[in-house]
Amino acid sequence: MSSLDITHHERERDPANRAWDDHNPPSLDLIRDCVHCGFCLPTCPSYKVFEDEMDSPRGRILLMRIGHEEGAQISPEMVTHFDRCLGCMACVTACPSGVQYDRLIESTRPQLERQVDRSFTTRAVRRGIFELFTHPGRLRALAPLMALEGRLGLLDRLANLALVQRSPRLRVMLSLAPDVPARAAVRRLPAVTKARGPARGRVAFMQGCVQRVWFSDVNAATVRVLAAEGWEVHTKAQPRCCGALIMHSGVEDEALALARETIAAYEGYDTIVANVAGCGSAMKEYGDLLETDEARRFSASVRDVTELAAELGARAERTPHAPQTALALSASSSVSG
Ligand code: SF4
Ligand code: SF4
Repeated sequence: MSSLDITHHERERDPANRAWDDHNPPSLDLIRDCVHCGFCLPTCPSYKVFEDEMDSPRGRILLMRIGHEEGAQISPEMVTHFDRCLGCMACVTACPSGVQYDRLIESTRPQLERQVDRSFTTRAVRRGIFELFTHPGRLRALAPLMALEGRLGLLDRLANLALVQRSPRLRVMLSLAPDVPARAAVRRLPAVTKARGPARGRVAFMQGCVQRVWFSDVNAATVRVLAAEGWEVHTKAQPRCCGALIMHSGVEDEALALARETIAAYEGYDTIVANVAGCGSAMKEYGDLLETDEARRFSASVRDVTELAAELGARAERTPHAPQTALALSASSSVSG
């Protein structure tokens, strides 16, 4: 039996019997922006790996258009090609025609989520990922175990088990697990970090869910950079997650609930700084997703830390680093050194 059973929700389906239901299908106007030039193909990792046109941005856009045709159905092959998209958005910046593939894939994924019954295992794995990775408290609870594992090499032994060897998905997940120190369980950023020198203003810093626990050194360095650049940095415990992971998997209702929580948590701040590309891009999409003035204002106030640095120019003293000069390292050394 196929791991994908396609079900069609007649109540919501387009009367012309198209594949997409009538709730926010991939926009035909955006689909028509693609002139099929193929400039995006060399930038697409899934196309490089699978060498199949339908695993390229151009191919997926074609599938989105086919889904609008009368009598079209969502086939298991279509689902596989959409699932293989990493959502890296390398194709968006590569496209000379300005095709908004990001918006297209984000309206396609909830369609699949609503209409495709995935296998029990797939649903269980996805739910497990959402229930763990979007909850920093649960990740903190795991940190001591992960630190112990790092010492004992349990994951390496686990990866060698026959059961794991037979599951490419599990093997890859285990191979990606980072080294997490035990202090990740308790480490917190200060609620307010004062600017160094005359303040340029205040910003709210978005900590992320996985980032704040597993990559807390990066967050600490980002706060030091912002303070060195003259920002008073406010770091709040809430929101626990911006919803990017869930949104990019097509689980729309949960993602929108987290988006609303995030907007509420940062009320009163003119600038929200992110250092995780996924969080930053998701928060910039809230306006389009929620379609409210409040959400659009919020999205307009989101900046990646590098955008903020480039927009306003550097102020902290730079000290060259060999062999590579990195903004975060440079500024953090000038602060802590
Ligand atoms: S998405 Fe852009 S780069 Fe890719 S084929 Fe279409 S127009 Fe060309
Ligand atoms: S977002 Fe998807 S289609 Fe675009 S480059 Fe990444 S993997 Fe390819």
